Amino acid sequence: MKEVYFKLLPMVFFILIIPFLVYVSDTKHKLVSVFDENTVQKKVNEIINSNQDKELVTNESYDKFIYLAFHKEEEDTYYVVDAKTGEETTILNYIKEEKREDFFNKVSELLHLKYPKFIADFLTGEEKIIDIELKDNELILYYNKEGLTPMVEEEILLHVNYNEVKDYLDFTLSLDSEYENENGYHYDKNKKTIALTFDDGPNGEKTNRILNFLEENKAHATFFMVGNRMEYGKEVILNVLNKGCEIGSHSYNHKNMKRTKLKDIISGEEKTHEIYKSITGKDLIYTRPPYGSITKQVKESLNTIFINWNIDTEDWLHRDKDKIIEAVMKDVSDGDIILMHDSYETTVEAVEELLPILYANGYQVVSVSELANLKGITLENHSLYRALKKV
Ligand SMILES: [Zn+2]
Repeated sequence: MKEVYFKLLPMVFFILIIPFLVYVSDTKHKLVSVFDENTVQKKVNEIINSNQDKELVTNESYDKFIYLAFHKEEEDTYYVVDAKTGEETTILNYIKEEKREDFFNKVSELLHLKYPKFIADFLTGEEKIIDIELKDNELILYYNKEGLTPMVEEEILLHVNYNEVKDYLDFTLSLDSEYENENGYHYDKNKKTIALTFDDGPNGEKTNRILNFLEENKAHATFFMVGNRMEYGKEVILNVLNKGCEIGSHSYNHKNMKRTKLKDIISGEEKTHEIYKSITGKDLIYTRPPYGSITKQVKESLNTIFINWNIDTEDWLHRDKDKIIEAVMKDVSDGDIILMHDSYETTVEAVEELLPILYANGYQVVSVSELANLKGITLENHSLYRALKKV
């Protein structure tokens, strides 16, 4: 009999011990969860306590984390506490692993819509994100601009609507049907603004390269083109308009209007207008007289708005990138019209470097029409303008 008991003993052991072990492990599990909840709440309380000088504006539980936002004067502070571990963390840890690249590609795309390339390129990636605000419809990313050249004054931030990134996020959000997003760059009438103008084109690849630099820097310009060159630069002309820039007449053959017969000036302008219209289907409304030289008689006779300049870079004379940049930066002020020529390699190089510097100094760079609009100035035919300053 004894031996039978012995044989049964392992069976009894299993019958009794296994449910006990299950019970214990389950209790242990429950204990851990209770402990977790306490840890999470403890962390949340700790954060609230350490921010008592600030106003708690958000304390919201999401499925995976708790989000806290505090406000004090100009400054906001944000915290994210993991709902499982109670550890302080960041929203960036709740992006689906397999969608991380997509998420940051989307952010980079939005950055390039909003900012000039030199800024957007610098901020691309996750290292430069210093803070993230969670709002009803959007994430707001705040950036560290330390090391950016040239340095800009403004605070750098990006609004990312949830609709743009919801598939990449690993937490649940209730989405508002309203959908707004960073919709690119807008000129601001309260910002300092100047018009950049390029004479003597179209100039093939040089003009196209300038157009690319303008586009990268959220800038526009006005190109005053010579009538007898236009037919050889049709693609460039269309590219200028495609990039949101504008074109004016720079006479038919670049002769000094003071030394040309009025009837030849008039017929030259007519020819230029015809050629331009045949290429673009549009009319020319501006004229820049060659050498800025004009008579009262020409002004009265030509039905056009005359645009000269108040800052001359003398790029044709110096052919020196640094001198061109210096000529602009030493005198530039709100409402200026700047003269350059897209005929020189050194001018193209200067534009590439100058546009970020102007942006960093708070200037937006636009076409003559945009400058007039932003300044609320109505330009009139038979008048000559050198700058467009608010009076
Ligand atoms: Zn010229």
